[in-house]
Amino acid sequence: MVNFKRVCVFCGSNLGYRKIFSDAALDLGQELVRRKMDLIYGGVSIGLMGLISQTVYDGGRSVLGVIPTALVPIEISGHAVGDAMVVSDMHQRKAEMARRADAFIALPGGYGTMEELLEMITWSQLGIHNKPVGLLNVDGYYVCLLGIFDKRVEEGFIKQHSARSIVISAKTAGELIDRMEEYTPSHTQVALSRSWNAEGPGSENL
Ligand code: AMP
Repeated sequence: MVNFKRVCVFCGSNLGYRKIFSDAALDLGQELVRRKMDLIYGGVSIGLMGLISQTVYDGGRSVLGVIPTALVPIEISGHAVGDAMVVSDMHQRKAEMARRADAFIALPGGYGTMEELLEMITWSQLGIHNKPVGLLNVDGYYVCLLGIFDKRVEEGFIKQHSARSIVISAKTAGELIDRMEEYTPSHTQVALSRSWNAEGPGSENL
């Protein structure tokens, strides 16, 4: 049983065409509030990011946006709620998110969301962190991506009983967080956590 408090949510800078995606962002935000969890996110007020950050903030929980300098201008990011941590680039953003969060959840999103999600899955496989990584599979949004993972298992590029188990998915926020709390890493990490964590200050929290 993993007890986590600070959840990093990756999600779209767009709302998507269907209301079901906004509803899912609101629902996840409310679920975090109900469970007294805090939010770490990309720091902009647009798209699903804006909805979830506002919901968690209105619920009285801590909200931290980690935003690269280039995305800070109001025309790009809007007026975000909560605390902001401005970092130099995307690499630093992901490193800070990974270090500060206890768990990661992806809502629907585009390239940015996929890139962030896949990096956290890969880092778990490598042994850089051992935190739960969940996909909120809203109305089957992630069925294709899960199918891509399964194809790689079938073809021998992802180990079925080890690395495939890193990815947790569920249809609702409540079910997803329940599953993530039950997560026990069972995959063989490529390198020991401490061999990565010798890299620099703060990395010991990964
Ligand atoms: P995506 O899933 O492609 O919408 O991207 C989500 C992430 O990409 C966010 O965390 C942002 O850093 C970044 N991003 C992509 N497009 C924008 C945008 N138009 N404005 C601000 N951030 C964006």
